[in-house]
Amino acid sequence: MPPTPTHCPYCALQCGMFVDAGTVTPREDVPANAGGALCQKGWTAGDLLNAPDRVRAPLMRQRRDAPLRPVSWAAALDRIATEVRRIQRAAGPDAVAVFGGGGLTNEKAYQLGKFARVALRTANIDYNGRFCMSSAATAQNRAFGLDRGLPVPVTDLAEADVILLAGGNVAETMPPFVRHLAAQQDRGGRLIVIDPRETATARRADLHLQVTPGTDLALANGLLHLAMTEGLIDEAYVARRTSGFAAVRASVNAYWPERVEQITGVPVPSMREAVRLLGGAAKALILTARGAEQHATGTDTVTAFINLALGLGLPGRAGSGFGCLTGQGNGQGGREHGQKADQLPGYRRIDDPAAREHVARVWGVDPADLPGPGLSATELLAALGTPGGPRALLVFGSNPVVSAPDSTRIEERLDALDLLVVADFMPSETALRADVVLPTTQWAEETGTMTNLEGRVLLRRAAMPGPPDARSDLEIIAGLAGRLDAPGRFSAEPAEVFDELRAASAGGVADYSGITYERIVAETGVFWPCPGEGHPGTPRVFLDRFPTPDGRARALPVEHRGPAEVPCGDYPLYLTTGRVLAHYQSGAQTRRVRALTDAVPEAYVELHPDLAGRLGVTDGSTVRLTSRRGSATAKVTVTGAIRRDTVFLPFHWAAAARANLLTNPVLDPASRMPEFKVCAVRVERAA
Ligand code: SF4
Repeated sequence: MPPTPTHCPYCALQCGMFVDAGTVTPREDVPANAGGALCQKGWTAGDLLNAPDRVRAPLMRQRRDAPLRPVSWAAALDRIATEVRRIQRAAGPDAVAVFGGGGLTNEKAYQLGKFARVALRTANIDYNGRFCMSSAATAQNRAFGLDRGLPVPVTDLAEADVILLAGGNVAETMPPFVRHLAAQQDRGGRLIVIDPRETATARRADLHLQVTPGTDLALANGLLHLAMTEGLIDEAYVARRTSGFAAVRASVNAYWPERVEQITGVPVPSMREAVRLLGGAAKALILTARGAEQHATGTDTVTAFINLALGLGLPGRAGSGFGCLTGQGNGQGGREHGQKADQLPGYRRIDDPAAREHVARVWGVDPADLPGPGLSATELLAALGTPGGPRALLVFGSNPVVSAPDSTRIEERLDALDLLVVADFMPSETALRADVVLPTTQWAEETGTMTNLEGRVLLRRAAMPGPPDARSDLEIIAGLAGRLDAPGRFSAEPAEVFDELRAASAGGVADYSGITYERIVAETGVFWPCPGEGHPGTPRVFLDRFPTPDGRARALPVEHRGPAEVPCGDYPLYLTTGRVLAHYQSGAQTRRVRALTDAVPEAYVELHPDLAGRLGVTDGSTVRLTSRRGSATAKVTVTGAIRRDTVFLPFHWAAAARANLLTNPVLDPASRMPEFKVCAVRVERAA
């Protein structure tokens, strides 16, 4: 059998790769990793298939204090169906909740949303993408009427004269992406990076704005203020393509440079240089990532950068615009087809009568039978096992014990449930707390589509069979739907599910109706929206108009509020969290790959040399970090790359090294995104 062309199991770049008997080699034909680059995670992805402790049979425990033991599929699925019926009879349909993931294929995300609404008839479904992309999504929908990560193909980056990247460390999170930045810089383009840390990406930049954590919004407003005073606003564009810009102008009057320097710590000359670079560029891209977005003010922060892009006349021009860098493998498609609490497929709103009518017709049910919006991820997890809250949770492709904020509380809530079911291929920290664990196939063992950070729909293809007793998530959903006598059809065939998704998305904002598996293969991916098989897809959005009622982008004034917690006497430092090169998300996968654990075996906390000196610690010392929610321990790395007032802890590790033991679950009011990126801590030398 020849090597199978497919894509990486990890991040949103979705690099192309061949898989041959579990061995990975890069593809050269996929633009995201053109030339055949893969990062260390991609090269070693084959090791996931044979992880020594992979879940290979259904597991079940009879009581919470009993061990998980192998059982038959029939026993596992019967137990789940029986418990679901019992709980829903006693407490109503919303007492059973579903939690999905941004790594699931489009087919799985779609089917999970349908399963929740049609088979369980619960409003309570949300997913871990709420932790990643929700602020960027909310802000883009608000401003542009459409939320697609990059508005242009990733290869357009090379054409930009200036790129401003706020809160993204692509040199570590998706190294092949750096090739696009290198191509841009090689032809004389300039890169500006906003980050509290001097990351590997910041070191590549022509200009690094080392912002105080949680103050990106003020910086963006300050940059727009300077663009106004320097006469760099594209007035013709603002008049023709935006609405509401006058109110934004009025609001940013208050962000004069010296005030913004005081808030952000960024010197006025650096701000001025950034604005002159951006304002003088024929083509420029402004990009945000989690560093700017994972805040209780995340939506407004992204809005402030969108306002800056609109003022400079960037969105809707080739090689220019505003975009956000998606993180999880299907962070884009996973937020389009119905696993969000407020959403139906095609990026439709669940409270829109026309959307309900359309989707119910595809599903063969009465629109009146579809539930309304449910609880968002953090609120859903916080409600588990509380009076009136869900009493059962079905988790697919997510590990909230490690990835959700204030994780001690998450463990308490999961343990308060009557039933916790986890479908996964690894014994994640969440799976190990479950009553029933369902072993799934994984990326190279199954087929399905992924939508990468460009909005390009790609096909991952099965290259090999999974373990004999593993099933795909689609098979699991079909098995449960049958036992619950769900109306309509729940196919376990990815191609059939995709065809149904196409019909359900038709006419929606994220319209996939013209995309077929055959086209994806022939065209190396198809960009949505693609509203017909004769439609070429849409590599560049907004060229003629924005999909808002008046066709204009909406500029909205937003005000700096700062993080919910700032340093004080008891907690004198900022904590910021993030990723490292060798690991991915909750680490449930990468912590099982030998080469990756050899590269970075354990959690570490970055301290500035001055802080390390004050604490009397050196490289390799162990420290305890304490926030208002709990404590974590990690080894010290002393580095001048971090601010004196800030410490950095990666979030890939479990147990006592969990960054989310510390993080603040306060939510952005619009996106319901938790404030992962900043909270107040103290650091002490540990015994
Ligand atoms: Fe995989 Fe992302 Fe690395 Fe590419 S950059 S190989 S998609 S983890």
